[in-house]
Amino acid sequence: MSTPQSLQVTAIPAFADNYLWLIHDQQYAAVVDPGDAAPIEAALRSRGLKLHAILLTHHHADHAGGVEELLAQWSVPVYGPAGERIQGVSRPLREGDNVDLSALGLQLTVLDVPGHTAGHIAYVAADQHWLFCGDTLFAGGCGRLFEGTPQQMTQSLAKLVSLPDDTLVYCAHEYTLSNLRFAIAAEPDNTDLATRLEQVQQMRARGESTVPSTIGLEKRTNPFLRYREPSIRRTLLSSGRLSNDDPVAAFAVLREWKNSFR
Ligand code: ZN
Ligand code: FE
Repeated sequence: MSTPQSLQVTAIPAFADNYLWLIHDQQYAAVVDPGDAAPIEAALRSRGLKLHAILLTHHHADHAGGVEELLAQWSVPVYGPAGERIQGVSRPLREGDNVDLSALGLQLTVLDVPGHTAGHIAYVAADQHWLFCGDTLFAGGCGRLFEGTPQQMTQSLAKLVSLPDDTLVYCAHEYTLSNLRFAIAAEPDNTDLATRLEQVQQMRARGESTVPSTIGLEKRTNPFLRYREPSIRRTLLSSGRLSNDDPVAAFAVLREWKNSFR
């Protein structure tokens, strides 16, 4: 691995439950999805860092809302999805593009992951095994389908699942506990899931972050990656939510059920 030891990822909490991700060494920083500029400016100041780049996954305000204010302070490239119109984006990206953040010694590749929004992208740091996936894959869940179809979202999630199991999943919200409460309803006999739910309950009670997750853990416990599993299909069939054996239909039904789950 060519990564300098000092390159790290720090969560900057914002709003009610967002994580803005600061990728930095001792000198430079890149920020992923700065929905708010103030906490980013504060983090840069307190650590003595210079902003080097802004990376966006999709157009929602809680992800891109701080861009203009940051650009007033810093003259930096703004990477973002080619398929969405976002104020300030200077480097539109699509699947297969590379982002070379030379000051940080960091290379990222881009995946198209439509579903939550139509042009949503994700960034993969292949050397570091880091994934920045915005609101596509969450710890224990996935994003709502605001602009895309279940078919698109299953294809997007399949790309993320193909990453190495030890890939760290830097998603954009602390939704894990409510996601896992739903997951256990969908798959009550999954013992890995029961263990994870208990751990996450304890972590949240202590006020700890449950992000990043890993691809391996998500594969074992996230119902939106496990909709082909017989155990989940049984839950959907026996509750009358599903009446055929189309896996995408199972995914769609699961996502709809989650929307109204309390
Ligand atoms: Zn969003
Ligand atoms: Fe969001």
